[in-house]
Amino acid sequence: MFEKILIANRGEIALRILRACKEMGIKTVAVHSQVDRDLKHVRLADESVCIGPNPSPKSYLNIPAIISAMEVTDSVAVHPGYGFLAENADFAEQVQKSGFVFIGPDPDVIRLMGDKVSAIAAMKQAGVPTVPGSDGPLPTEDRDKCQEIARRIGYPIIIKAAAGGGGRGMRVVHTEASLMSSIHITQGEAKSAFGDDTVYMEKFLQNPRHVEIQVLSDGQGNAIHLGDRDCSLQRRHQKVLEEAPAPGIPEDVRASTAQACVQACIDIKYKGAGTFEFLYEDGRFYFIEMNTRVQVEHPVTEMVTGVDIIKEQIRVCAGEKLSITQDDIVIRGHAFECRINAEDPKTFMPCPGTIKNYHPPGGFGVRVDSHLYSGYTVPPNYDSMIAKIITHGETRLEALNRMRNALEETIIDGIRTNIPLQQRLVRDPAFREGGVNIHYLEKKLDG
Ligand code: ADP
Repeated sequence: MFEKILIANRGEIALRILRACKEMGIKTVAVHSQVDRDLKHVRLADESVCIGPNPSPKSYLNIPAIISAMEVTDSVAVHPGYGFLAENADFAEQVQKSGFVFIGPDPDVIRLMGDKVSAIAAMKQAGVPTVPGSDGPLPTEDRDKCQEIARRIGYPIIIKAAAGGGGRGMRVVHTEASLMSSIHITQGEAKSAFGDDTVYMEKFLQNPRHVEIQVLSDGQGNAIHLGDRDCSLQRRHQKVLEEAPAPGIPEDVRASTAQACVQACIDIKYKGAGTFEFLYEDGRFYFIEMNTRVQVEHPVTEMVTGVDIIKEQIRVCAGEKLSITQDDIVIRGHAFECRINAEDPKTFMPCPGTIKNYHPPGGFGVRVDSHLYSGYTVPPNYDSMIAKIITHGETRLEALNRMRNALEETIIDGIRTNIPLQQRLVRDPAFREGGVNIHYLEKKLDG
């Protein structure tokens, strides 16, 4: 096992990783920007290194500074968390070339999955269901061919950038008249945002849900899935409230899709924790992309499976075989996660500031992943998520009622948060029923 891990992240996920390392007897190094020296995990780590000024490119995205910090602290491996450098193949490669271990899949696997066109091709090969589409890059100079592909798929279609991410580089097209101009505009945007103007085409699904499947794989021929999560409640492609398992999915459909994901992991020699994201409509799964890292919402899966995803991720990246088999995985009960953001509940504008008083919720089946403490100042420089409240129950209703209570108990004084929005959501009749689609939250906010 690794002797010392450097945590190349901040906030709640850095603390989550630190706790896992401590339980495993692994020493920890925290790296932080200037404003982040008072983060909870920085105080709890064995060592800490300031890697630069507050803007992310100068600190959390500063590859030479992070590798230097590994050198001076004698770290053996780096855990990237999510965001920042977690899916940066060049970072993973430089870590390896410097003689350290990147806790995640190999750089070529990150690259394969980072390009959506190659990812979809690899998934099709493994039998993972994909969205009907162009099966490769669009011949953007050949109008007839593009029109033919779109007619075959059937309007509406969506043009997507192969290198796209964060909900950017996509355009829906309803009629042939606007097809070519939409292709060219998306190409231009993709070029300037991602430095790659490759675009492809997919059927635009009108009212899908977002359902994803968590996997663990050791790159040595062993892979398992940990069931699914529903993350359909989103605003501007940002997830707000997640649950596991996804409600109302026929067992055979879920099982065959998950099995295909496992096969894909074995085929591509995937190592670590990963997520296959799907759109789900009319009883069918459609693969859209794979995230080659741990996700924000991983705790809901941990609550229903009892598996510590971060520890397993560290173990397999240290070269160990998966310690659990598919037969060990039993889904027990139901879990929800509410993302608590430092933002105005009406305008959604970020609301940084000093926390005067912090009282997290508690009790049976309640988990809080957060770096907050009374007196902590939320800086304006980073993502506004400050806490995740997770509840587990024997049934969906029990977990949901537990979340309602947990939100009521939570006190975060000094800044505004989205707790009022989360309280509305857990009381919402359609959400309580289960299975709302990805447009539901924005429609509710408009109405
Ligand atoms: P990103 O990497 O930018 O997150 P995704 O491929 O995951 O891009 O798509 C982001 C979101 O865009 C999806 O969650 C969904 O809301 C929407 N989307 C993407 N592809 C389709 C599609 N074929 N039909 C309908 N909506 C889509």
